[in-house]
Parts: sequence; C-alpha cells; structure tokens
Amino acid sequence: MKIAILSRNKQLYSTQRLVDAAQSRGHEVHVIDALRCYMNITSHNPEIHYKGEVLTGFDAVIPRIGASITFYGTAVLRQFEMMGVYPLNESVAITRSRDKLRSLQLLSKHGVGLPVTSFAHSPDDIDDLLNIVGGAPAVIKVLEGTQGIGVVLAETKQAAQSVIQAFMGLKEHILVQEFIKEAGGSDIRCFVVGGKVVAAMKRQGQEGEFRSNLHRGGKASLIRISPEERATALRAARILGLNVCGVDILRSNHGPVVMEVNSSPGLEGIEAASQKDIASMIIDFIEKNAKPNRTKTKGK
Ligand code: ADP
Ligand code: GLU
Repeated sequence: MKIAILSRNKQLYSTQRLVDAAQSRGHEVHVIDALRCYMNITSHNPEIHYKGEVLTGFDAVIPRIGASITFYGTAVLRQFEMMGVYPLNESVAITRSRDKLRSLQLLSKHGVGLPVTSFAHSPDDIDDLLNIVGGAPAVIKVLEGTQGIGVVLAETKQAAQSVIQAFMGLKEHILVQEFIKEAGGSDIRCFVVGGKVVAAMKRQGQEGEFRSNLHRGGKASLIRISPEERATALRAARILGLNVCGVDILRSNHGPVVMEVNSSPGLEGIEAASQKDIASMIIDFIEKNAKPNRTKTKGK
C-alpha cells in the first residue's frame, strides 16, 4: 500500500514508529506536512499539491494533526477523503474530538460517565455556575487548552470566583468541573485501536500536582483496567467515531469518568509503559480496513 502520514516532523517518535512499522510490512510511506499542501478545491477531480507535485495513488492516510493546526490539517485530510483515500481517523471525528464541549455534550447524551461539568462564557451568576458542580474545590479549564496548560484547581469558593472572573476578562470559554480528588493526581490513558483497548497506562502527576500530564512532569506506568473502564473507553471512542484514540479516564467514587479523548495520541509513553508494538497494530488495522471510498461522512 501507499500510505501518507500527515505530520509536521519526521523526527517525532510517533511519526518515526509509524514509518518504521509500515515500511517493515512492505508499504510505501510518505510523511507529508499538511501546512505545505495546497489544493485546487474547484477541480472536478479533487487534488492535493505538495512541493510542486500532485499527490496521487495513496491508499490510506494517517492524520497526526497537532492541536494548533487543527483547522488547516483537517481541511487537507478532508481533501484526501474527497479523493477516496482511506483515513485512519476521519476529519469530522477529529474536529469533533478537538472541541471539548462538543465531545462532552455527545458523551453525556449517550450516558458515558463524566465529571460533573458546567460551561460558560460570561456568567452573570458565578455562584450558580459553581453550585452546579457542587461548589469548591473545583477545576476550571479554558476550552482550547492542551497539555494541562489552562487547567486550574481552585480550592476555595473565593479562589474559584476570581479565576472565573479572570478568564471572563480574557474572553475565554471555560468549563467548570467537580474536582475528582480521589483520583489522587493520576489518570488512566486507554489506547484504542479499531474497537479494542490495546494498552493502558496510569499517569501520575508530580508530588503536589493534581495534573498528571507527561508534559507537566507526570510519570507513566502499566496498569490493569477494570471491565467497566474498558467498556467506557470503547464507548467513548465509538461515540466520537474514532478508530484510533487515547481515552483519558479518572477513577472517581462514582465510577470511571472520561476527561477527554485524544485523536492523535502519542505512542512514546504508551509503548514504553506497555512494551507493545502499537505502531504495528495501527498499520495492521489499516491493512484490514483501507478500501477506497470508504469514508462514511464524505467530509460533512
Ligand atoms: P489537557 O487537555 O490540557 O491535558 P485535561 O482536562 O486533560 O487538560 O486536564 C489535565 C490534567 O488535570 C488531567 O490529566 C488530570 O490529571 C487533571 N484533571 C483534569 N480535570 C480534573 C478533574 N475534574 N478532577 C481531577 N483532576 C483533573
Ligand atoms: N499529546 C500527548 C498524548 O496525547 C499528551 C501527553 C500528555 O501531556 O500527557 O499522549
């Protein structure tokens, strides 16, 4: 097969692993920087141009689209879909999962366990907004944050009010969530490939840090997940329409709650913790599923 990996940098661990796994199974792989693609969208035959050439003959495309280039990256992916190329994750599913509010609304509607969450832009009644999530302590998040930046734990009602006021002043959309204290500064990353949780790891934040992000100094270790956690991760992936994703779960005293679903989950932490060749599992999934004109959504 001829496979495109949409990635800004060939040297990234995840990109490199996917290239190696695909090549070792005899596939031709091209790493393509989505930002350098340009397109004739009015042509009857949709085309993508890259470095002066037209991209043709691809069977599958693996999107590794960073949060900062979601808009253009998904537009390029959509163009591949228009050309009938099989996407590992569809553009619509990626856009859906990148919007925290949109994903939480969908997951909630389908009954997936979530931290009690409220959402606001310029609330006139901050007290009421806080009451929805049971008051302080509460976690306040800016909607567009990643890697734990823009996630604040407000221990008291006064602190929560000032943080909310500060974000309001910056005209940010915010989520206010119950603080899952019993998670003890850790979360569980379930790595889903094609309807199976192929590996799971626990991420533990540094001493005194409630955020477990690896970018914030968190440490990963292998963990056994419960059948309920497995089922929750798979439902979340299915509802958002992602074939490959990382589902982040907190262990709360009202069961597993989904915090977010990442459509370009990193391979480094999870392969190191699980000692599994997840890159090959992804290529294997593509081998079994990539057929031309198989996208369900046609970019809608
Ligand atoms: P980001 O998308 O920026 O990583 P997250 O919403 O995943 O933001 O939050 C970052 C980290 O903060 C999580 O990995 C988790 O450890 C912690 N955290 C987030 N929300 C809560 C919460 N409601 N209760 C307890 N811990 C939380
Ligand atoms: N992009 C990384 C991932 O999805 C974030 C890891 C982290 O900060 O915890 O695995």
